[in-house]
Amino acid sequence: MIVIMADNATEEDIQGVVKRLEAAGLRAHLSRGVEKTIIGLIGDKVRLGGFAIEALPGVEEVIPILQPYKMASRSFRAERTVVPVGEDLVIGSEKIHVMAGPCAVESREQLLYTAEKVRAAGATILRGGAFKPRSSPYAFQGLGEQGLNILAEARERFGLKIVTEVMDIRTLPIVTAYTDIIQIGTRNMQNFDLLKEIGQVNKPVLLKRGLSATIEEWLMAAEYILSGGNSDVILCERGIRSFETYTRNTLDLSAVPIVKHLSHLPVVVDPSHGIGRWKFVAPMCRAAVAAGADGLLVEVHPNPAEALCDGAQSLTPENFEIMMGDLRRIAAALGRNI
Ligand code: PEP
Ligand code: MN
Repeated sequence: MIVIMADNATEEDIQGVVKRLEAAGLRAHLSRGVEKTIIGLIGDKVRLGGFAIEALPGVEEVIPILQPYKMASRSFRAERTVVPVGEDLVIGSEKIHVMAGPCAVESREQLLYTAEKVRAAGATILRGGAFKPRSSPYAFQGLGEQGLNILAEARERFGLKIVTEVMDIRTLPIVTAYTDIIQIGTRNMQNFDLLKEIGQVNKPVLLKRGLSATIEEWLMAAEYILSGGNSDVILCERGIRSFETYTRNTLDLSAVPIVKHLSHLPVVVDPSHGIGRWKFVAPMCRAAVAAGADGLLVEVHPNPAEALCDGAQSLTPENFEIMMGDLRRIAAALGRNI
C-alpha cells in the first residue's frame, strides 16, 4: 500500500502518517519526489486493523500495490533509482556502464592485462570471479581471497570499480570488504538466506536473473534485498533456460523494457552468459543498448582458447574495443553515452 500526500501537505502531516504506521508496527518508506511525497508501507497492512489512513490530515490517496513485490515496484517509487557505486560513478543515469573482464580471475598477469585493455576501450567496471559457481566439482573453482586481492590491485592501478560474485553467507564479509558491487549469480537468485543477509549490507548489489526465473520471481528476489534495508539493487538479465540448444541460454531482451515498466531499478544485460558464443555477444550488446539497458556485463579474456572458464563466450580485447565503438554510436543516437 502506498500513501500519496496532497500537494499542500505539511511536514507535520507527513510525520503524522509515518508515526501512525510505525505505531502499528509497520515500516514507512518516504519518497520525496519533485511533485509528490509518497509514503510506502512495509509490512502486513492487517496490522492497521480498521484504521483509515485516508482520514489523516494531508493524505490525498491510499493505493494498494497489487503486485507481490512492493518496494521494487514502480508504484512504490515514481522516479528511477540511480545506484551510486563509490563516490564517482552511478548506474541508472544517461551513462551506460560497461562491466568487462574475464569470467574468473586466473592470475595477476591475466587480470591486470585484461583490466588495462578494457579500461582503454571504455569499460568503467572490472568483472572477474574469485569464487566460481561451477557445474562440475572438478572444474576450476576460483582463486578465492587471492583473486579478490588481484581485483583490488587492478582497481588501484586502473581506476576501475570492481564487481565480483559472492556464493555464500560465510564469504560475504570478505567479498563485501573488497568489492564495489556484490554480484549474486543466477544459481543464488533464490538463496533467500543470502538475500536477507545482503539486505543488511551497505554495498550495491548486481542481482542476476535465475536460470529459470520469471520476471516476478526475479523482482521478488530484489524485494528481499530492498526490504532488508539495502536499496542499491541493480538487476541483471543473463539469459534463461529454454528449449533452444544452439545458444547456452536464451537472452530475454524483452525483460529490459518490461522490468523498467514494472520497477524503478536499473537493468544491466549480460549477453555473454545469455548466449554462450562470443560471435553473437556484440550484436546482442548492441540490441541491449537499443532496448534501454543501463549497463552491460561482458566477458573478455586475453586468450579465450586457454581460459579456465567460459572461453567460448569471451571476447578478445580487440573485439571488445571494436564493439565499444559501435555501442557508443547507438547510445548517442538514443541520447545516452558509454
Ligand atoms: C558469471 O558472471 O561469471 C556467472 C557465473 O554468471 P551467472 O551467475 O549468470 O551464470
Ligand atoms: Mn562466466
